[in-house]
Amino acid sequence: MHNVLWPAVRDQLEKKKRVGNGDLFKLVSGVAEIEAVYEVDQSPIGKTSRSTPGTYIKVFDEIRGLYAQLPVSRVRGYSASRFSFNAEGGRCETCKGQGVIKLEMNFLPSSYVPCEDCRGRRYNPQTLEVLYNEKSIGDVMEMTIEEAAQFFSAHPKIARALSLLVDTGLGYLKLGQPSPTLSGGEAQRLKLVTQLKRGVSRAANERIRKMRKPGSTLYLLEEPTIGLHMADVELLLNVLHRLVDDGNTVIVIEHNLSIIAEADYIVDLGPEAGADGGEVVAVGTPEQVARDRISRTAPFLRKVLSSSRVNKRLSS
Ligand SMILES: [Zn+2]
Repeated sequence: MHNVLWPAVRDQLEKKKRVGNGDLFKLVSGVAEIEAVYEVDQSPIGKTSRSTPGTYIKVFDEIRGLYAQLPVSRVRGYSASRFSFNAEGGRCETCKGQGVIKLEMNFLPSSYVPCEDCRGRRYNPQTLEVLYNEKSIGDVMEMTIEEAAQFFSAHPKIARALSLLVDTGLGYLKLGQPSPTLSGGEAQRLKLVTQLKRGVSRAANERIRKMRKPGSTLYLLEEPTIGLHMADVELLLNVLHRLVDDGNTVIVIEHNLSIIAEADYIVDLGPEAGADGGEVVAVGTPEQVARDRISRTAPFLRKVLSSSRVNKRLSS
């Protein structure tokens, strides 16, 4: 997936033949059906506390725009950039909008203490005087994503993006939480939701949608469930299903049977691990692969499928 499929699709999309890649280029077919290809991993998003879930999903731009539209801002001539903690003007200059001060200590790892000037709120007092529904932009940064979705319910563009994060189980994160503190699973879901948000705004514009092929992004994920709790696996499945429902294609390398059982199509590689594997053992729907006599996955898959059938019968 990483060394053949991804570069081959990327090269065909970019209509580039890389040196020595000629055969690779010819390997894949069907690229005409897709618009873009993304590898989604658990690597951290943003290395500084200047990146937060709010800035990553771009919803913070909308929120800043809203604050700049308020009557007080207009009178004072505050533009949207005034409400950025990453630019001079509105931020606290003592901590440069970080809300914390880094303490360098000899022989000890550096640590952070809340900024005394803004008390961790990242902005200067003048900026914090601008209130929307009695809350300043600094208060908003302290809200969880779930609270913010409620708070901005009158603004569909902001509320919709935040609701997507709530739906995928990220509602407990604070809007202003520094991105480097997110877990691998949280970072991965945030990346996937950002993709979903693109899909939503596209769906909102029927005219553009008609001009384009529906959905049609190819997502590649390598063992996305590594390090995830069972509840997080469920949430990940929700996001993957939504991407597919929007008309996209998701290819996942996975050993986790909960994910395998929910696939539309399985390519089972084996029969054993490592050097004794690498052959295509079985292909088809989960039900078809579960009936295979050679596949090592089949017996486990049968168990998962029969228990999920029992669950479905019980719930209906
Ligand atoms: Zn400060």
